[in-house]
Amino acid sequence: MSHQTLEFKTEVKELLHLMIHSLYSHKEIFLRELISNASDAIDKARYHSLTDNSILDGDGDWKIKLTVDKENHSITVSDNGIGMNEEEIIKALGTIAHSGTKDFIKTLTEKQLKDNPELIGQFGVGFYSSFMVAERVVVISRKAGDPKEKAIRWESKADGAFTVESFEKDSRGTDVILFLNEENREYLDEWQIRSIVTKYSDYIEHPICMDVTKDKKTEEEILNSRKAIWLKDKSEITKEEYTDFYKHVSHDFGDPARVIHFKAEGTSEFSALLFIPKKAPFDLFYKEFKIGPILFVKRVQIMDHCEELLPVYLRFVKGVVESSDLPLNVSREILQNNRQVDVIKKNITKKVLDALAEMKNSEPEAYVEFYREFSRPIKEGIYVDQQRKEQLKDLLLFESTKTEPGKHASLKEYAERMKADQECIYYMTGESREEMEKSPYLEAFKEKDLEVLFLTDEIDEFIAPDLEYANKKAKSVTRGDVDLDKKEDKKEAEKKYKKVIDLLKDELKDDIKDIRVSGRLKDSPCCLVADEGDMDPNMERIMKMMGQTAPVGKRILEINPAHPLIESLNAVFEKDKSNPVLKEHAHLLYEQALLLEGSKLKDPAGFTKRISSLMAEHLNKA
Ligand code: ADP
Repeated sequence: MSHQTLEFKTEVKELLHLMIHSLYSHKEIFLRELISNASDAIDKARYHSLTDNSILDGDGDWKIKLTVDKENHSITVSDNGIGMNEEEIIKALGTIAHSGTKDFIKTLTEKQLKDNPELIGQFGVGFYSSFMVAERVVVISRKAGDPKEKAIRWESKADGAFTVESFEKDSRGTDVILFLNEENREYLDEWQIRSIVTKYSDYIEHPICMDVTKDKKTEEEILNSRKAIWLKDKSEITKEEYTDFYKHVSHDFGDPARVIHFKAEGTSEFSALLFIPKKAPFDLFYKEFKIGPILFVKRVQIMDHCEELLPVYLRFVKGVVESSDLPLNVSREILQNNRQVDVIKKNITKKVLDALAEMKNSEPEAYVEFYREFSRPIKEGIYVDQQRKEQLKDLLLFESTKTEPGKHASLKEYAERMKADQECIYYMTGESREEMEKSPYLEAFKEKDLEVLFLTDEIDEFIAPDLEYANKKAKSVTRGDVDLDKKEDKKEAEKKYKKVIDLLKDELKDDIKDIRVSGRLKDSPCCLVADEGDMDPNMERIMKMMGQTAPVGKRILEINPAHPLIESLNAVFEKDKSNPVLKEHAHLLYEQALLLEGSKLKDPAGFTKRISSLMAEHLNKA
């Protein structure tokens, strides 16, 4: 093969540009990323060698080697892992496979990054982080099973392009050679390298070796302790060690919100060290978000994300699970139908939910912080996990008509505050608390001192019907009929207004489903409500946002029997039911109600005309 020069994909160019100009203060993570890639490559080779021994070619001594060349200012990370062929190297080191990272780069402006350089560490910067410290990077790789002449040499100065050419390499695997730029030559120092390896890669299962000179003799030393912290006893681990390990597995900087560390014995034997992060990663809601803990079987890393071990809604949980029951050559298919895996999953799901419940009770402030970041996945759980729905519901927090803005109530607290004769748990969905607080739908509830929960998340619409608690059904204040007053009063009002209601119905039949006397209004003359099973405007808004066509349902117009406007309308009707003013006012009434629910008028020009003529009349009398 001849020498080829190829362009990086646009998003790689953007990423490299960000990398090179980054003021990120943890540039040393480049080494962690390269070691982690080397370790993954070895895991892959080892896994394949279980079924195809020939790829070993006599070398099953898995190892990552760091080599420093002070003269050429280079540091090399070598592995005897799976390696890459030409096609693979062009794809792996010329594009970005993860669309979450792609989108993140697009939305991230240079200014944002300048103000907050730590953002860089939030996504899997991977191989490209080399360019934070190197002006030139060379990768030489030979795929396991390929002959030595089929090796490939890749090189780039991050100037928009890279080259690939054939090469000869004696052994399987990959060498990544970084020619450090002048400002970053500190990384050639042996002690620097040692400290970075201990800080970020100590637990890596494969030996990370380096030649060191002691008493004029050069010998190879293993830099990482390879200690499996998750197998140690809790009492032997310091908080700092937990935090360091958390940083390994999460790429996060701060401390975790919670550490969950336990050993299960009995029918299923496994150890788990799991973390609940403080901050949600930017790509939590992307399809390709990698779910699940690292899976080890008998000290061997099998998978860096084992999604079979946690329900999708707990995807924010990071950590490691090590089983001694599973086979070493466990495949995805085995994982998907394995009783042991089910037992582990059930167990760790319970531990995570228990830890959250415990945190909610013992550290309410920390829990609110957690909830701010992760309420959505928890709510997803309520939607999908019938079995644990009740437990998940206890983790919910809502603002309500009885909480200060920014403060929350749980369903339990709500239930405890309920009036003795209260029939339902009341909630309202909408875009914001402020908006909902002003709405007419709450009038009667406020007057009766009934607490209403404010549901402002989009996903709330989907879980609201599930908020049944303490044997009380959940009910939307904007849907269906509400009967807070004595039933007889309402019946009487219905009788009194029957005829005028019929007239209004006839006039507005194209726009509304029904008209009735309201049980929820005190100060406003009228409002629109959705029928019990229908979508309300908030739901319609959300469906539209999700790109779904929402069938716009007709609403029910409710009138307030105690409002002077309704009284006057009735009085005019009683006097002369053919008075044209009645029809005109029917439309005005409906249009007001539309505005109140936050919807658009169908005929703004007609509305303005009607209002103007009313104003003129009023002014004439003034
Ligand atoms: P990530 O590791 O998150 O996929 P990287 O940018 O670090 O992202 O690497 C991109 C890809 O390049 C890897 O997925 C892998 O296929 C390949 N790669 C990187 N380093 C090595 C290596 N040492 N050996 C084999 N393949 C590698």
